[in-house]
Amino acid sequence: MPVKRFDAIVIGGGIGGASIGYFLAKNDLNVCVVELAKIASGASGAAGAFLSPMMGKGSLVDFINEALAFSISFYEKIAPDLLVKNGALRFAKSGESIERFNDNIKLTKIEYERRGEAIFFPNAGAIDAVKLCERLFEKCVVFENAKADRLRYKNGEWHIGELSAQTLVVATGAYPSLLPDWWLKTRGVWGERLRVKPVRPIAYNYMSDIAISASFANQTAAIGATHKRAAIDWQIDPSAIDELLKKAIKMLPEIKNAEFLDILGGMRPASSDYIPIAGKFPNAHKILRDFPNLPNGERVAEDSFSYYPNLYYFGAHGARGFVTAPYVAKIVAKTIANGEKDIENPFKPSRFILRTFRRDIKASSCDTLKQFSPLEY
Ligand SMILES: Cc1cc2nc3c(=O)[nH]c(=O)nc-3n(C[C@H](O)[C@H](O)[C@H](O)COP(=O)(O)OP(=O)(O)OC[C@H]3O[C@@H](n4cnc5c(N)ncnc54)[C@H](O)[C@@H]3O)c2cc1C
Repeated sequence: MPVKRFDAIVIGGGIGGASIGYFLAKNDLNVCVVELAKIASGASGAAGAFLSPMMGKGSLVDFINEALAFSISFYEKIAPDLLVKNGALRFAKSGESIERFNDNIKLTKIEYERRGEAIFFPNAGAIDAVKLCERLFEKCVVFENAKADRLRYKNGEWHIGELSAQTLVVATGAYPSLLPDWWLKTRGVWGERLRVKPVRPIAYNYMSDIAISASFANQTAAIGATHKRAAIDWQIDPSAIDELLKKAIKMLPEIKNAEFLDILGGMRPASSDYIPIAGKFPNAHKILRDFPNLPNGERVAEDSFSYYPNLYYFGAHGARGFVTAPYVAKIVAKTIANGEKDIENPFKPSRFILRTFRRDIKASSCDTLKQFSPLEY
């Protein structure tokens, strides 16, 4: 890697890194991305990249549907050629009674129309995941096959190999973390999805336990996805092909004549409250040193927390990274570019400081913390 200085280094070339890279560049920062393999080679490359709404009510539903509206109109502007926005037909899931399904429809605030037993959401679609990530990185300098393995902070800058920048954004998805972030309690959810070539174009997405996408411009369609929470070793399970095809045929019988093209797998990075985590990265060790009674319930104003200098976390997009990442990135990139505090940022990592320390650590805080090293800087 050449010696080079940037305003910001983003680690990770998935939809997380691509979205924050795009909006940082839009805020006039000179940005590079360091990706250990190729752009979108992690969960993002495996994703069906459905842009699906959520039914029901509550703050999570409102967030997802607001992010969906934002992301679809964003993709319409920057990647209309990669987007199929033909809507989605949603059937009840197995285990979801018709009464519950109907109740959820009544609570749903976004636009829909009834179609027999299903409902149709016009503002839904799917996007070509890999090409989208490449497009978002167009204004960034991309270093592929470049693994960041040690973060160093020296003379007011972060250093990754021969690269340096004042600002560092870690967007490494569910991969082994480069940060002392155990207290964020993120987890990986493995998934597989298929690519098929239907005999005739599929008009719109079909959604139930799994989803089938409308046909993309290249006549292929996505079928996904499996969800596996157990600790598994990041391997594709070939039995997922039958599992997904069976479910897809039940929803849309003509899938049985489709040509099977390939199966992809990836690890979704998820938070415990299903909301992405993005913002300034707190120095948990220093916070506990400064406020040793915090686990016992001491009230501490969040603006007295310590943070690592210009270090940001951007991740935990769960099963909907293509819906949430651009929306979150637009908000967080502005905070980063303006060097603002992110007290008002609803995605801030620090929301887990109090939750984890109070719930899980209690009085043994300092002993527990000794098992984890802080970042040296
Ligand atoms: C099967 C499947 C189906 C899905 N379907 C959908 C869907 O329909 N709609 C939707 O919105 N979302 C979907 N998702 C979820 C979505 O893919 C994720 O939310 C999203 O990809 C997470 O993006 P990310 O950038 O955080 O992680 P990733 O895409 O995993 O990117 C992280 C990147 O960081 C790189 N990296 C890691 N460590 C280092 C290092 N040390 N140095 C350099 N680079 C590093 C990795 O190589 C990787 O490219 C699906 C996911 C899966 C697995």
